[in-house]
Amino acid sequence: MPGFELFGELERKEVNDVLDNGVLMRYGFDGMRKGHWKSKELETALQQSFKTEHVQLVSSGTAAVSVALASAGVGAGDEVIMPVFTFVASFEAIMMLGAIPVLVDIDDTLAIDPKAVEAAITPKTKAVMVVQMCGSMGNMDAIQAVCNTHNLLLVEDACQAIGGTYKGKPLGSIGDLGCFSFDFVKTITCGEGGAVITNNKAYYTNADHYSDHGHDHKGNDRGAETHPFLGYNFRISELHSAVGLAQIKRLPEFLTIQKKHYTIIREVLSQIPEITFRTVPEGGEESYAFLNFYLPDLEKARKVSEAFKQNGIDACFHYYDNNWHYIRKWDHLTNLKSLFPISAEVKEGLEYLKTKNFAKSDDYIARNISCLIKLSWTEEEVKTRANNMFKIISTI
Ligand SMILES: *Cc1c(COP(=O)(O)O)cnc(C)c1O
Repeated sequence: MPGFELFGELERKEVNDVLDNGVLMRYGFDGMRKGHWKSKELETALQQSFKTEHVQLVSSGTAAVSVALASAGVGAGDEVIMPVFTFVASFEAIMMLGAIPVLVDIDDTLAIDPKAVEAAITPKTKAVMVVQMCGSMGNMDAIQAVCNTHNLLLVEDACQAIGGTYKGKPLGSIGDLGCFSFDFVKTITCGEGGAVITNNKAYYTNADHYSDHGHDHKGNDRGAETHPFLGYNFRISELHSAVGLAQIKRLPEFLTIQKKHYTIIREVLSQIPEITFRTVPEGGEESYAFLNFYLPDLEKARKVSEAFKQNGIDACFHYYDNNWHYIRKWDHLTNLKSLFPISAEVKEGLEYLKTKNFAKSDDYIARNISCLIKLSWTEEEVKTRANNMFKIISTI
């Protein structure tokens, strides 16, 4: 990660196909496009990669989460249970629908804790969102069991875990709906883009219509199409899809490189007794987009993080002090600051955030360091990096 590190001829060729015919829109203009339907082709490629029946491309990962929830009928006043460790997009996408994000603890997988999910269920709960953070996954069997018992929708945000699997299934394909991001820093990038995947035909049809102003996509004349329900514009463009199409063809190559680099660093760091690694559930295989490890306490993690920065070990994150991925710094949510009025129901629904204790998650995130695994490193660079990390951690 990220895929842009290895841009090359393939990306250029796909983009030029689109520029040569000038049709940047994914729908219509059949006569002009010389047979190029990059978005449709990318959807087919993603169906195969993610072993899913249906794929709807959208404009971003954040849009994917909103579209996924909307497609399954989640809306005003519904509660969606989500983890305290994720990207801000998770609650943004929920709140855009007028729904209420119910934040709960993570466990040592760094994903949502199934026991915390169970404890947060109320009569208003509609869906559980599991976020497969930093290339790995939650305890999916246990999470799925809670959802089944309580008849809740399971939505998977696999934006950071493209290529990871659980019991042979691609991450994103386990829940009722899965969401992906192809933004500029993800494993597969389109510049901006995202996808909703599902095996449920009705959800897919809803996603297809909803993400294009409610267009029913029946027939060849956009103007004559009808609108069964309200929609928005979450469309992806052909230029973006063209880049993604080149990138998805290279996913196996990217995953091989990630695993190789990850393994070299992990083997070196394994020799430090005080380090433990994030738990990967049995039957799971990471995408190896990140290497996550725990140090004994916050103080040590802060020192190591600082020393990494001082010594040129870039792209290692200490999320405890980061503004975007952990609840500790989300004051715009906890003391709600919105540009426009938010419904009283949602405001009231968020009151719990002022007092709820997330000590368990605090402990995991305080001790965690998450290192991005880059694709462009040479093997020599990875080894030097691993040895430097070893020295830094061992001397603090
Ligand atoms: C990147 C990301 C998103 C949002 O994707 P965008 O395409 O940037 O909107 C959502 N969830 C997670 C976990 C992400 O990492």
